[in-house]
Amino acid sequence: TDIQALLLSRIREVEDYPEPGVKFKDITPLLADPAAFGALTDALADIAVRTGATKIVGLEARGFILGAPAAVRAGIGFVPVRKAGKLPGATLSQAYDLEYGSAEIEVHAEDLAPEDRVLVVDDVLATGGTAEASVQLVRRAGAEVAGLAVLMELAFLRGRARLEPALAGAPLTAL
Ligand code: 5GP
Repeated sequence: TDIQALLLSRIREVEDYPEPGVKFKDITPLLADPAAFGALTDALADIAVRTGATKIVGLEARGFILGAPAAVRAGIGFVPVRKAGKLPGATLSQAYDLEYGSAEIEVHAEDLAPEDRVLVVDDVLATGGTAEASVQLVRRAGAEVAGLAVLMELAFLRGRARLEPALAGAPLTAL
């Protein structure tokens, strides 16, 4: 569609970042273009409304930038999932494996309630490890997963297949 072409045209590929052999997808040109950022915000808000989401969970850090305006536009709350050690209150945490080593993410337990339906938002789906841990965190907080929405899916890394069990039928939308 026109919107997909607009969004794609505003993503910059940076060779050998953050390490040799990686082609990093840089979304800052998209953020700097109000037409593209606005269209993306509308599209994410639309998914939130269609999936009946009551909260958007955004993943540090670019999931904050995309998820927060979409939550405001959809008229629902925003909840940050952060790297371990950044949230001051009582948290639930979830560890997950990286290519080398592991990482841990956290959410404030009291920001999600059993009656919440959560749309998880991030910029790029790569291996799916971050999104998988986030979906698990949302469930452990007692809330329901309404879906996962990302700007871009790197299909060659097969994150979608990895996420299937965790999503348990909830839709994954890559804009
Ligand atoms: P995964 O856990 O799916 O392997 O990696 C996804 C996480 O790493 C996301 O939070 C995403 O922001 C970040 N990420 C991985 N590759 C890229 C990339 O090429 N561009 C951007 N903008 N983020 C990436």
